[in-house]
Amino acid sequence: MSEGHRIIPISSDAFRRREVPVVDGQEPVADDGSVSLADRRGRPLRDLRISVIDQCNFRCGYCMPKEVFHKDYVFLSRDELLSFAEITRLARVFLGLGVEKLRITGGEPLLRKGLEELIADLAALKTISGQPVEIALTTNGVLLAQKAQALRDAGLNRVTVSLDALDPNRFRQMAGLTDSSPDQVLAGIAAAQAAGLRVKVNTVIQKGVNDAEILPIAEKFRELGPTVRFIEFMDVGNSNDWHADQVVASEEVIARISQSFPLVPVGRSTPNEVSERWRYRDLPNVEVGVISSISKPFCGECSRARISSEGLLYTCLFASSGFDLRQAVRAQPDDAMLSQMIQKIWRHREDRYSELRDAMLREKQNRPLARAKVEMSYIGG
Ligand code: SAM
Ligand code: SF4
Ligand code: SF4
Repeated sequence: MSEGHRIIPISSDAFRRREVPVVDGQEPVADDGSVSLADRRGRPLRDLRISVIDQCNFRCGYCMPKEVFHKDYVFLSRDELLSFAEITRLARVFLGLGVEKLRITGGEPLLRKGLEELIADLAALKTISGQPVEIALTTNGVLLAQKAQALRDAGLNRVTVSLDALDPNRFRQMAGLTDSSPDQVLAGIAAAQAAGLRVKVNTVIQKGVNDAEILPIAEKFRELGPTVRFIEFMDVGNSNDWHADQVVASEEVIARISQSFPLVPVGRSTPNEVSERWRYRDLPNVEVGVISSISKPFCGECSRARISSEGLLYTCLFASSGFDLRQAVRAQPDDAMLSQMIQKIWRHREDRYSELRDAMLREKQNRPLARAKVEMSYIGG
């Protein structure tokens, strides 16, 4: 369906839901009982992103444009969402397959009631090597000031706060709202720091919309301390009207900041780290990062799985469909069988959308690849 030139996301089940594969208990297991899991391109499963809600109190144009996610848009009902017990059970099974980090996302995750109870349940889980699991949250920060301490007390380790503009008018234009402000987000960041959470900031840059914010945001967080990561505007979903001309390449972001505040490269902390790190020459303890999903795709190291708020498992941010783990969780009492289903899905994975898009962009085809893709607010960032 289309409205002018904008494609409206299709929400039919047939479009996005796939049955989990049938298993026969024969997935390979090592002699010591451990599972060695890699996809068809040799990539392990290390990170799990869990969306807890598809609704949001913002309407960022690059994610949930208000022409598409309008007042009559039908979001998931309460019973369609995975319960906290179902999320915790799935997380436990994923940890048994080598996952080391859990990230809670949305929509806006702080809109999910009682989120700290879920965090407490997840914090009690262990990785396969018996270590406490690292739990992070991505939020737009508007509700963070009031929730940071409770989340920390429940066991949250890290928070990534999205902030796309410091100028109040541009902030409201980007967030698609009239009644929130960058000061609320900054207060959320301060509260998170005061509560002892490790904080990073994410800024999506869209040319002609907020590229004038690169320097003010870099300067602000040089003073405040948290690392800010500038993200290239991506062609996620089918509703944000993406075009390659609206992307500001990370190289340019770094060049612009360096003109005022010279930067020194630090590299990536781990091979599957998506952000390239830099530090300020005059403030060696303060870093800035760039996430170059468009200009330097990192599919080769991608070890992330995503579960939507209704329990569909996606093995790529740009997938067209997900596997129905909710149905499996509700029908399957045996965790070992659930684990086998997930293993089978991961072993068949060959996603590399950003590499394919990169090949197209090199041929000067500046539109996204023509395929139906799941929306970012539904799958979680
Ligand atoms: N609502 C929360 C927030 O905004 O932080 C969590 C969910 S949001 C989908 C997760 C992240 O995805 C945010 O940092 C957001 O900026 C990023 N994001 C959404 N759409 C994007 C796009 N088209 N390109 C790049 N990043 C995007
Ligand atoms: Fe909401 Fe986050 Fe998407 Fe913005 S990026 S609309 S805050 S889910
Ligand atoms: Fe991973 Fe898909 Fe992104 Fe490539 S395009 S890095 S496979 S999520």
